[in-house]
Amino acid sequence: MTKRLYMTTSELTGTAQIIRCDADETGYIAELDATLFHPQGGGQPSDLGELENEPGAKATVLQVKEVDGVILHWLDVPLPPGTVMMRVNQAVRQHHAALHSVGHVIGNIGQQYGWKPVKAHHWPDECRIEFMPESNCSELEAAEIEKTLSDLIAQGLTSKIYTDEKGFRWVGFGELSPWPCGGTHLKSLSEVNGKVLATAKVKKSKLIVKYSIEASNIGEKE
Ligand SMILES: [Zn+2]
Repeated sequence: MTKRLYMTTSELTGTAQIIRCDADETGYIAELDATLFHPQGGGQPSDLGELENEPGAKATVLQVKEVDGVILHWLDVPLPPGTVMMRVNQAVRQHHAALHSVGHVIGNIGQQYGWKPVKAHHWPDECRIEFMPESNCSELEAAEIEKTLSDLIAQGLTSKIYTDEKGFRWVGFGELSPWPCGGTHLKSLSEVNGKVLATAKVKKSKLIVKYSIEASNIGEKE
C-alpha cells in the first residue's frame, strides 16, 4: 500500500523512496513508499510532475494510477530504487482542483433543489454531473447554477476537510454540506479563476449539468 500524502497535505514537493521501477509495454512504472501525486480517479485526471534522485537524474511523471491499493507512477525514463524528490506540477494540480471544486459545489446546489448527485466527471472539457430526482425536487436552470456559483466564488468559501472515525475523508466548502471525497480541492473558491459556464438538461428524469471555467487556460469550451 502506498502512503497517500496528498490526502493530508497540499504540499507539492517532498521526498519519498522508489521501491521498484519496472518496464512493460506501457512504459517505466515506479512504485513509491509514499506519494504527493493524486492518481487518476474519483472523476479527476492524475497529477503530473517529476521525480529527481540524489545524483540528479530526473524523470517526468506522465500518468499516475492506483492498482490494487498501490499507486503507480508512469515515467518517461527509468529511475533506480532510492530516495527521490517529488515535484507535482502546480498549474495542472490547480486546474484539476478548480474544476473538481466547482463540480463539488454544483453537487451542493443540485442538492438544495432536491437533486441527488450520482455521477461526477471533472476532466477538462468534459465536466458533467448527473443527478437523480428526490421526492421534493424542483426545476434547476443553468442560469441559476451560474449565479449561485458566482455568488459563492465571490464569498470565497474555504474548503473544510476532516476524517471521520471510520477513516472516510469528508470535504465541504464553507457551511455547504460535505461529501466523502478523495479528490484535490482549492483552499478557497476565490481561486476559481474565471466565470463558470453551465448547461442543465433533464433527460429520462436525470438532470445532467455540464460546466466549464471560462477563463481557464487549458482550452475550456462550453
Ligand atoms: Zn471533492
